Amino acid sequence: MSYVDEVLELVKKKNASEPEFLQAVTEVLNSLRPVVEANEELYRKNAILERITEPDRQLMFRVPWVDDKGQVQVNRGFRVQFNNAIGPYKGGLRLHPSVNLGIIKFLGFEQIFKNSLTSLPIGGGKGGSDFDPKGKSDREIMAFCQSFMTELCKYIGADVDVPAGDIGTGAREIGFMFGQYKRIRGMFEGVLTGKGLTYGGSLARTEATGYGLLYLTEELMKCHGESMQGKTVVISGAGNVAIYATQKAQQMGAKVVTCSDSTGWIYDPEGIDVELLKEVKEVKRARLTEYAAARKSAEYHEVSAAERSGAGVWQIKCDIALPCATQNELLLDDAKQLVANGCKCVCEGANMPTTIEATEYLQNNGVWFVGGKAANAGGVATSALEMSQNSERLSWSFEEVDAKLKNIMVNIYHNIDDAAKRYGMEGNYVAGANIAGFEKVVNAMLAQGVC
Ligand code: NDP
Repeated sequence: MSYVDEVLELVKKKNASEPEFLQAVTEVLNSLRPVVEANEELYRKNAILERITEPDRQLMFRVPWVDDKGQVQVNRGFRVQFNNAIGPYKGGLRLHPSVNLGIIKFLGFEQIFKNSLTSLPIGGGKGGSDFDPKGKSDREIMAFCQSFMTELCKYIGADVDVPAGDIGTGAREIGFMFGQYKRIRGMFEGVLTGKGLTYGGSLARTEATGYGLLYLTEELMKCHGESMQGKTVVISGAGNVAIYATQKAQQMGAKVVTCSDSTGWIYDPEGIDVELLKEVKEVKRARLTEYAAARKSAEYHEVSAAERSGAGVWQIKCDIALPCATQNELLLDDAKQLVANGCKCVCEGANMPTTIEATEYLQNNGVWFVGGKAANAGGVATSALEMSQNSERLSWSFEEVDAKLKNIMVNIYHNIDDAAKRYGMEGNYVAGANIAGFEKVVNAMLAQGVC
């Protein structure tokens, strides 16, 4: 049995109840086969694959807080510190009722390679809680965030582990957590990213994941003799990534015609009104029905709890599809529909939104497909730029950060393209991203001995 298959079996045996983690490990290790085969003796002897698939540590803790009725609520908190071979752990905090250890592990594992691809010195980690911020008052959110940080603060620090936002964790939550860290530890340090601009945040961090996704997509199109001008784009999600992806795609001359949230989706043939979408989602924190009510050209499609939200988005004819909501939201049938409709390019704004079968179908049918590890790395890259500014105690201008972000995303595209070519897999950007991210981490692990 090959070394990759041996380790895949071992990982399946040890983590049988964590399907998302197994999905992520399977995808990564399968695409690393050529690299592992070329270095099998060295990697086996040093148990590289066993070590890279086992987190350094995983923390799980109780988060008690009091709701507005005076009732004590209890959630479960997580932080998985996966690998710090190339820098302090770095990765977001997800607040969503679906969160469990397997989901945090899959995200932390992917983060190792994504962070390596940015070329910046950051290791992989992820955290969060099964707390649902929806419908909670500001006071309840603060009570939860303070309790969560009261425990988490024992394990993080500016040179140890620097969490950031993710689904359900935006500027408000980061602010409450930062305040609590400062209060308990008695120090002001860059322990979180995605902070407000008045206390150490970076300009362009809010826009970074969506903008970065489009910088990479534009470079990919350019290298295939195409441009964004005049293209029709479908986007899922209506959160941070989706909003700024929509904005940048429109600035590049494309027309974005869809968005979605967990209860419905919008088809707007005139093009999404991004200012209206921001007002509905960022200011009012409302449903997409409010967007549809305010915009004549928009069709709203309600989705019941039993249905898959956002699935309708992939039925709309497009040149480019950008899944920006959540994991496993683009399935094989959706991929078939995209291909039948002539879609040329799929780049993932979300983490693992496309299933393995759907990815293979897209790749086998000539669609240029870039996975989230590369395509959405702009968020964490800009978080690392926030860390640099905090260390320097300086703030860079929006233009300076944005220019660095663009440069990083263009370089990521060329690095993954080159890595795929080096191993005879030209055009397989999934393999290219895994290989390019993996090589740097493994070199660091080998240099640091058995740890
Ligand atoms: P937000 O919470 O801002 O937005 C998420 C969007 O997706 C919302 O519209 C939400 O709808 C929808 N959504 C979330 N979960 C589900 C679900 N289970 N089913 C259907 N719809 C869902 O998150 P972000 O935009 O920050 O993150 C989106 C994706 O991008 C995630 O996969 C995240 O890990 C990834 N990502 C984010 C980065 C960042 O910088 N923010 C960086 C890199 C990756 P509703 O509001 O109704 O819940």
